[in-house]
Amino acid sequence: MPEADTRRQGRTLRDARGLVAAGLIPPAAEAAAARVARRFAIAVTDHVAGLIDRADPADPIARQYIPDAAELTTAPHETDDPTADGPFTPVKGVVHRYPDRALLKPLLACPVYCRFCFRREVVGPDGGLLTEAELDAAIAWFERTPQVREAILTGGDPLILSPRRLGAILARLAAIPHIETLRIHSRVPVADPGRVDAALVAAMDAGKPVFVAVHANHAREFVPEARGALARLAGAGIPLLGQTVLLRGVNDSAEALEDLFRAMIRNRVTPYYLHALDAAPGTAHFHVPDAEGVALVGALRGRMPGFGIPTFVRERPQGGGKRPVG
Ligand SMILES: *Cc1c(COP(=O)(O)O)cnc(C)c1O
Ligand code: SF4
Repeated sequence: MPEADTRRQGRTLRDARGLVAAGLIPPAAEAAAARVARRFAIAVTDHVAGLIDRADPADPIARQYIPDAAELTTAPHETDDPTADGPFTPVKGVVHRYPDRALLKPLLACPVYCRFCFRREVVGPDGGLLTEAELDAAIAWFERTPQVREAILTGGDPLILSPRRLGAILARLAAIPHIETLRIHSRVPVADPGRVDAALVAAMDAGKPVFVAVHANHAREFVPEARGALARLAGAGIPLLGQTVLLRGVNDSAEALEDLFRAMIRNRVTPYYLHALDAAPGTAHFHVPDAEGVALVGALRGRMPGFGIPTFVRERPQGGGKRPVG
């Protein structure tokens, strides 16, 4: 089994009691948080706990990671598989929706669990590790699918694999002649930056270009530890892309988005996508209407470099893929 790497895992808070003990929720909120935790995993790394301003009830970091009783309400339009990956899964762990590129999900665990996650029904600390045989079958699928030119590692978060395991997966994919580029989607550089050490960076030297798409939603995630992790990746010649989810109460103003995208480009991360929230269960309190998102992104035009403004996209229903909004 692809073991998760525990070398650098500091303390991670994983239940309501731990959040109370750390002063991240008041004792009165413990019961509701415990109810949320029975349905959706909780994980707050030491690093993320240190970013949270406990004196601010509207803290944009806390809002991304600390469970909220509102998650217990599922709106009528919300679904368990909002991106409709199911019909596009040729073998376990692979999602093939676009002809030339496909996802490989080696595990479904993450360093943190975002309260708005579109895969929240499947991600969790003990879910979704591919067995050796399943991983072999997934890689065999890439080998026999010559139209696929890019393999995209996602999950879960591939950067919590051990360097040895990650390096082995990347090397096997890079050895496939028709695979031209590799990509890793990760929250680790901002959620658990200490994992991005020399060994992990070396593991990404696969002999073919490896792009890393970093998921970050607020400028305050770019603290020195995170900036160091990004510098180690960029210094190794790894192109960095930024992925952001537009979230009510986190980044739903032109100022917050400008600050975020400027923080990205200062750290050599090119903003790539701003995602409209997918309709996962219990996430309605994060919803920003598309028209408002279009206006926010429009407000950035002329205000900052063009390459600093991502494309605002939404997943089409029934697995139609991403489409620019507006
Ligand atoms: C988002 C996504 C990709 C990557 O799409 P890009 O537009 O290249 O970033 C690939 N496959 C699936 C199934 C996706 O959902
Ligand atoms: S890191 Fe990504 S996959 Fe994991 S919980 Fe957050 S949004 Fe979901």
